[in-house]
Amino acid sequence: MRTRFPPSPTGMLHVGSLRTALYTYILAKKTNGKFLMRIEDTDRARQVEGAIENFLTNLAWAGIVPDEGVMMKDGVLSQSGPHMPYIQSEREATGIYRKYADELVKKGHAYPCFCTSERLEQMLKQQEQRHQPPMYDRQCLELPGHEIKSRLDAGEPHVIRLKVPHERVITFNDDIRGPVSFQGHTVDDQVLLKSDGFPTYHLAHVVDDHLMEIDLVTRGEEWLSSLPKHLLLFEFLGWPVPRYAHLPLLLNADKTKLSKRQGSVSVDEYRNKGYLPEALVNFLALLGWNPGTTQEIFTLAELTEQFDLARVQKSGAILDLTQLD
Ligand code: GLU
Repeated sequence: MRTRFPPSPTGMLHVGSLRTALYTYILAKKTNGKFLMRIEDTDRARQVEGAIENFLTNLAWAGIVPDEGVMMKDGVLSQSGPHMPYIQSEREATGIYRKYADELVKKGHAYPCFCTSERLEQMLKQQEQRHQPPMYDRQCLELPGHEIKSRLDAGEPHVIRLKVPHERVITFNDDIRGPVSFQGHTVDDQVLLKSDGFPTYHLAHVVDDHLMEIDLVTRGEEWLSSLPKHLLLFEFLGWPVPRYAHLPLLLNADKTKLSKRQGSVSVDEYRNKGYLPEALVNFLALLGWNPGTTQEIFTLAELTEQFDLARVQKSGAILDLTQLD
């Protein structure tokens, strides 16, 4: 099985991402498959210098080394594998995402939107006042073909949006959550390509996971609500859908989403405090998964043997540091 860990380099590796990487790595190793590392750096404004190196060194410290993609060789960042490049900004430069966005427009599954950020802000404000869910109101979907053409020819700034079929019910069987279904009319017409030509996560990961032959997508459950958009993209591009497993979030003791404000979240902090990688790996593996036995101490090899998505819990797992000491 081919699995992937595709962080955005917007901060240093935190324990939640380490746990996701760990499960993802184990699932590839269990099947003698490949664990791939991709960098999702399409949000240029949020990038943090040194983040990629930090991810790779901390993963290696925990015993997790990519088989393919972005890796460290003799302390230097490098890439290796049959699907180069593995950094999305470099992939963007090849025109790959625009190519598929154009294909979607041509097939009638996506459309250009010329709305300014001021207009969109105004629209959202009005929706809030009317207690309506925030959603693009499709003003640009109604534009006549000749107007679209002349505005595009004039080089007017625009984004490309997915045209979600409102009448559809989109269903899927998630590897952790089981059957899930979404009403099309509740799904927003997602921006796929931004006005700077960069893809959003939604388009980029679908294109890359397909081209990189990923069998199973493991990611945090914060992405579950976006799943219908991704399923539609696979369908409209005529590609098979990989398996998806949405992992429960790590939570603070008060059940809010894990945050820096309530304790240590970066892997660096644990390393600096002197925790052994084996202890942190063991601790994180058991946050949200249990072996179904009384065994509490696992090596990475034992985890690889025993880990099973069927025993991953469906709801959030609390990060209680007193258990680690
Ligand atoms: N770049 C995304 C993130 O860092 C990856 C999500 C995914 O695994 O697809 O949240």
